[in-house]
Amino acid sequence: MNRSMQRDAVLNELRSLRTHPTAEDIYNRLRPRMPKISIGTVYRNLEQLSAAGIIRKLELSDRLRRFDGDLSPHFHRRCCSCGAVSDIPSERLDALFGELAAAAARNGCSGYNVEFTGVCGDCRNNKKTQNEE
Ligand SMILES: [Zn+2]
Ligand SMILES: [Zn+2]
Repeated sequence: MNRSMQRDAVLNELRSLRTHPTAEDIYNRLRPRMPKISIGTVYRNLEQLSAAGIIRKLELSDRLRRFDGDLSPHFHRRCCSCGAVSDIPSERLDALFGELAAAAARNGCSGYNVEFTGVCGDCRNNKKTQNEE
């Protein structure tokens, strides 16, 4: 397996997920198919892909380095119960995101972190079923 095949496998795996995985998550998913791939290779490829602007690196307050294959402007929501990171589907927020990015760039900022927190749907449902039991 050569380097560009490994890179493509990492990229395809990331793009197939909506979960904003860490390098470890991707590694665990690829390993059954690619037993020779190492965690270091996955890390390196993710860093190179984000440096090249092909994927997005998320720096959220959970301190896990997560990655996003979706480059369209959108905000993230982190569940304060399970830590899951999901996209917020809102055109209004997407437009706001674009404005923020432009304002940040005008002020010489190269990046910024905006994070919404809340309880995700899964955790809300779990709580409900627990209460019903
Ligand atoms: Zn949750
Ligand atoms: Zn996202």
